[in-house]
Amino acid sequence: MTTAVVDRPDIGSFEPRPAPRRRGACPSLHHPMQTGDGLLVRLTPARAGLPSAIVRELAKLAERHGNGLLEVSTRGNWQIRGLTSESTAALSSEIEGVLDQFRFGLTLDANPFTAAGSDSARLVAAIEEMSEHPNLKQRLAPKFSIVVDDGGCIDLAGVIADIRLRWAASDRWAIVLGDNEESGRLLGYVRPADGCAAVSALAEAIAEIGPNARGRDLSLPRAQIATTAAASSFESGADPIPERAMTIHVGHIRLQDESLAVLSPAYGMMHASSLNAIIDAIDEIAGARQIRLCTTAGRLISVRGLDDHHIERLLTHEAARDFITKDDDPRLSIAACAGHPACDCAHFDTHAAADRLVERGLLPHDGSTVHLSGCEKECARPAHAAVHLIGRPNGIDAFDDHGSSLGHFTEPEDAVVSTLPSAGGIA
Ligand code: SF4
Repeated sequence: MTTAVVDRPDIGSFEPRPAPRRRGACPSLHHPMQTGDGLLVRLTPARAGLPSAIVRELAKLAERHGNGLLEVSTRGNWQIRGLTSESTAALSSEIEGVLDQFRFGLTLDANPFTAAGSDSARLVAAIEEMSEHPNLKQRLAPKFSIVVDDGGCIDLAGVIADIRLRWAASDRWAIVLGDNEESGRLLGYVRPADGCAAVSALAEAIAEIGPNARGRDLSLPRAQIATTAAASSFESGADPIPERAMTIHVGHIRLQDESLAVLSPAYGMMHASSLNAIIDAIDEIAGARQIRLCTTAGRLISVRGLDDHHIERLLTHEAARDFITKDDDPRLSIAACAGHPACDCAHFDTHAAADRLVERGLLPHDGSTVHLSGCEKECARPAHAAVHLIGRPNGIDAFDDHGSSLGHFTEPEDAVVSTLPSAGGIA
């Protein structure tokens, strides 16, 4: 089957999805999430990313209907913050014309840069089709998610998944149930041809437990029975999962088939004006080229379609100053929620505190993370952190990864100074 390429002057060229989505198909538009700064709408972009003109539209929608703040989530979704019920309805109506640029099915995370026709690409396509079956989809928990990780340049190890397929060498894929790659339960291995059948059988077994069941709720014996029946190549085992050859980070990234300018909004969040500025810079540099912005795990924005010298210009452009473009940027060591003043629930200004930690060099030197949360909801909690600092009405409570208290403090800096040496993270 050939796919027509549509040329629209307003959004450039793109490949349409096979069938238009019905109105209301996006649960996050119709069921936005309540946060401390109003409602939040989450949009999952097409796997190849969004044309730059569509990203500009998102910025306009955030300014017009929200509080002007956008995020790239830890799974690489776009989030528009600070909406009301009325403004969400208006946003929903205005975005209707470009819904074909977004995905609305079961959450399925995969490497968007994987080669077309590869085992991974075929697995993703098969699982995407399988998971659309209403008899299965409607029986799974709302946050049910699947990861297909080809071990390639997008590090999906920290992304939570109910069912994870991870390439494991020797033409086998490991199956991991629940949690992230490290803490999930390794069930065994299948050949690529059986990957979709195994995922389908496991999803069915989880759905049978109940409407809110997750991968962690499925017992290993039950999982093995289901997988053995569905996938003849299934074998149990616990061989080590191979390391990745390379992982995309910020900066100028050269993949086998394309080069990328990769940016990350500081602390995962940007104002619409910053996003507009970077799109202006892309338009100025790229001219008539068709450019896509592909958001991925790790809150990364990969700009696709630029030449190497264009990438260098973009990464050093003034408009890139609100983004992280170098992998030694200390802001990468901080996970922070919106905080005060963006969020009414916040007990402190997480971003100002983060900037002070950066200025004073109070950050881990071992690649670990400091987590700053304006309140106990921990909207930006990373999979792991050297210390979690949680805002309270009377100060800051510090915890380790296991929830053990590390003390109560007046200022975030005091908490970091006192707690990080014991975590072995500070120089
Ligand atoms: S964790 Fe942060 S963003 Fe989330 S509700 Fe609390 S203060 Fe607001």
